[in-house]
Amino acid sequence: MRIAVIGAGIVGVTTAYELSADGHEVTVFERHGAVAEETSFANAGVVAPGYVTPWAAPGMPGKVLKHLFSRHAPVRVSLPLSAADLRWMWQWRQACRLDTYLANRERMQRLAFYSRERLHWLTDSLQLEYDRSPGYLVLLRTEKDQRMVQPSLQVLREAGVAFHEIDAEQARGVEPALNPDTPFLGAVHLPDDEVGNCRQFAILLKRAAADAGARFEFGTSVRPLDRASPTTLVVQATDAAPRQQAFDAVVVCGGVESAQLLRPLGLRLPLAPVHGYSISAPIHEPLNAPRSALMDERYKVAVTRLGGRVRVAGTAEIGGDPRRHRASALRTLYKVLQDWFPGAAQLSNTCAAVQEWKGARPMLPDGPPVLGASGIPGVWVNLGHGSSGWALSCGSARVVADLMAGHAPLLDIEGLGLERLLG
Ligand SMILES: Cc1cc2nc3c(=O)[nH]c(=O)nc-3n(C[C@H](O)[C@H](O)[C@H](O)COP(=O)(O)OP(=O)(O)OC[C@H]3O[C@@H](n4cnc5c(N)ncnc54)[C@H](O)[C@@H]3O)c2cc1C
Repeated sequence: MRIAVIGAGIVGVTTAYELSADGHEVTVFERHGAVAEETSFANAGVVAPGYVTPWAAPGMPGKVLKHLFSRHAPVRVSLPLSAADLRWMWQWRQACRLDTYLANRERMQRLAFYSRERLHWLTDSLQLEYDRSPGYLVLLRTEKDQRMVQPSLQVLREAGVAFHEIDAEQARGVEPALNPDTPFLGAVHLPDDEVGNCRQFAILLKRAAADAGARFEFGTSVRPLDRASPTTLVVQATDAAPRQQAFDAVVVCGGVESAQLLRPLGLRLPLAPVHGYSISAPIHEPLNAPRSALMDERYKVAVTRLGGRVRVAGTAEIGGDPRRHRASALRTLYKVLQDWFPGAAQLSNTCAAVQEWKGARPMLPDGPPVLGASGIPGVWVNLGHGSSGWALSCGSARVVADLMAGHAPLLDIEGLGLERLLG
């Protein structure tokens, strides 16, 4: 088949690779000049399937309200809020019911474990070399953090994930550079989880997709799909007139823009941008830097080692101006880095080297992404991966490629299709 993939974030690149490897004639359209320039650019890089759970969970609305006015809030609601944001928040609130949460958690974890297998398989079989480190440590500052983490530990037990509850001294054995002056109670250590550089992986997999025959048209925007002829795209390269190009099938992997692309087809997807931030800085002294990935459970901030850099990522911001960097959110990231790894990164006198970044998680209100047929002939979707798109991408892409080939995917795909949202 001649297939168009719209978007070259991690989801579009993995999809393009799988479809090309299956022998299809694939063209990828990306409005930026390279892969992974939007949300896949500087995420935390954590791959921890047992922690891939919906944000729509019992008790979450109360937690969000409690944090509204706190200084280092992990979740923020910013003005202005659009009507779509308000509608999304209402649907999110509905999805916090226990039965809905449990069903969606099981769906996300099913996909996350499969996806990690696929990630490892691709990494090994294609010999992809990107910055990655094994192990994940969830830091618990106080007894309260320890109490709060218990439901997640139960989830890990049920999912059969290997983890150890360890005290502060043992945690310092795992991450020797942890600041000796920051007291904490202990940690949860997950030796089988990992961190990897999503953007580097996307760049390498793009090359593998191109080797398998995929064509990448960068600097090329795709207009919203046309109801009369949804697989004929109107595309426009920079400084060129719009042109039409016909395909047998189209896969929408446009991250937060996907809802706009599909809207003319009558598909109204409740997809909201939930913004987050990261800072990345060169490592100043390797002995003071993390070895792998950590999560500060109180602030919900990840600190990760990506080769010669340390990255700190977190915050969930609903609404607000996407171009504006909120100073207080960045301050929280610097504070967490300073608390745990002071002296690890070159922060002063090297402003140009510190990268401050804001990204938009393409988030559906209930949690899991949607994969597969859209219900419109020839139009397929792979979107809505929210806060776990890196961890879910390789499995999602394989599922979509199998469905497009008419095979049953190796993964049970119950609840991962568009019908979940459209009723
Ligand atoms: C602070 C932060 C931390 C995160 N940490 C993690 C983590 O630790 N682990 C994890 O698994 N996930 C994490 N995520 C989530 C993850 O980054 C996203 O889920 C993932 O990047 C989404 O990938 P995507 O390909 O769907 O979207 P994107 O990367 O945004 O790609 C979509 C692409 O489509 C293109 N596009 C859109 N519309 C058009 C059009 N009309 N024409 C042409 N091109 C178009 C865009 O330019 C873009 O390149 C984090 C996110 C944030 C913000």
